[in-house]
Amino acid sequence: MSFFVDKNGYYGQFGGAFIPELLFPNVKELEDNYLKILASDSFKNEFKELLDNYVGRPTPLYFAKRLSEKYGATIYLKREDLCHTGAHKINNTIGQILVAKYLGKKRIIAETGAGQHGVATATVCALMDLECIVFMGEVDIKRQAPNVARMKMLGATVVPAISGSKTLKDATNEAIRDWIGNPEDTYYLIGSVVGPHPYPDMVARLQSIISKEIKEQLLAQTGNENPDMVIACVGGGSNAAGAFYHYLDTKNVQLIAVEAAGLGVHSGQSAATSQLGEVGVLHGSKTILMQDEYGQVIEPYSISAGLDYPGIGPLHAFLHESERAIFMNATDKEALNAAYELTKIEGIIPALESAHALAVLSKMKLTKDQVIVINLSGRGDKDLETYITHLKDE
Ligand SMILES: *Cc1c(COP(=O)(O)O)cnc(C)c1O
Repeated sequence: MSFFVDKNGYYGQFGGAFIPELLFPNVKELEDNYLKILASDSFKNEFKELLDNYVGRPTPLYFAKRLSEKYGATIYLKREDLCHTGAHKINNTIGQILVAKYLGKKRIIAETGAGQHGVATATVCALMDLECIVFMGEVDIKRQAPNVARMKMLGATVVPAISGSKTLKDATNEAIRDWIGNPEDTYYLIGSVVGPHPYPDMVARLQSIISKEIKEQLLAQTGNENPDMVIACVGGGSNAAGAFYHYLDTKNVQLIAVEAAGLGVHSGQSAATSQLGEVGVLHGSKTILMQDEYGQVIEPYSISAGLDYPGIGPLHAFLHESERAIFMNATDKEALNAAYELTKIEGIIPALESAHALAVLSKMKLTKDQVIVINLSGRGDKDLETYITHLKDE
């Protein structure tokens, strides 16, 4: 069984490119060129130089001594929270902005829900002096004012999506409409391992630097490049794809994907896609998504904006179906408690998304010699208001 994309863009039954005919030339151009670009020496050199000196890679692999004592295991944290802009998302936007440049594109479009991907995109557009247009639901623009301000300061134009529920899926529709209208000069920069082929594979490759580094660092620190377990949270699935990538074929490394259960998996207020979803088409690919009996997307809910997504990427749908990865989940409250705990015992304030990955430690039977790597996808600065509000409730 292969966990890598096949030549038609599928992971088992999942993936493909379900797109309007008018989009076909744009997607085909990318599909025909992305592997060549990623394999070229000029791309590899430029990507590495920027990851090292702009993003701050390699990020540390930190042995969390007190966390390990608390849970009776040997726990390492992969510190993606120390990346420039505060999360793993920049690995992908740096890679794709280079792909856009090599394709000769002058104008970058993106959609964003919470604004994190919008900020990561606006950042690399500023760096490369490219025009940046970010589509964002009108409701989200109101909810995420600090990120909107960041994008504007970085020089991006933020365009409100005013149809439907005025949230992420409406922003996605606007971005796709724009791309259809501007096929020549415009590049669509997608923020996770989602979208039509080749995006899921391209984004997974760009984020795979995470597991490449984990292998080297774990080997240097323990003498064995393979941990017993890798744990990562899943919104669309890009940080998990990056943390799992070089372990996909190593069966004795357990892969744990953690989804947001919101107020509880069956509360009606959740984003636990693998538990609640069914097979369908979302954002141009066949995957698992939360939908009603008419195939309409159900609005997901999570306290963490980055996990508040109604689907998972096709790679993850396949990892779930094939049981290569174990899917777990954590509620808002469990994630908050895990964040307070990490802050107190390790002096690290994690992003709320990453706190979901930490929260499953208390749900597992662990042994002292078990080596666990948790991908700390981002830092908690952006979540401070939420943390302060809920601390008062405690
Ligand atoms: C966006 C985000 C996520 C979720 O996105 P994935 O594509 O699933 O990785 C997770 N953690 C942080 C810190 C984020 O900003």
